[in-house]
Amino acid sequence: MARGFVRKIDDLGRIVIPIELRRSAEIMNRDALDMYLVNGTMTLSKGKGRKLDKLGRYTIPMEVRRTQSWDIGQALDIYMEGKEVCIRRYGCEWCDETEDLIEVNGHKLCHACAEKVGAAIIEA
Ligand SMILES: [Zn+2]
Repeated sequence: MARGFVRKIDDLGRIVIPIELRRSAEIMNRDALDMYLVNGTMTLSKGKGRKLDKLGRYTIPMEVRRTQSWDIGQALDIYMEGKEVCIRRYGCEWCDETEDLIEVNGHKLCHACAEKVGAAIIEA
């Protein structure tokens, strides 16, 4: 269900860019990256912006975390498109569960939330 690797935001707002993706994107630790955000997907590529730390972690800018509601512990799907690393929210859109997800019309829900929707429809 995830397009790439699922990682969680740590206590300091950082996300580990998996080594496999850093290699594919030819990004070294401490390299500077450019970041842009479109439709809830943050894209990173080699550039002049914020740097990866020595462990391959990228600190997600506070304004991105605020506007996207990416709190500490939020699971993110990290994948490649061309030479860019793309990062987007992962998990149930209602409760942030990351296991047992189903997708309906592009929206991800866990089975528990999907059952609640089904029950509400039957009651209506
Ligand atoms: Zn859920």
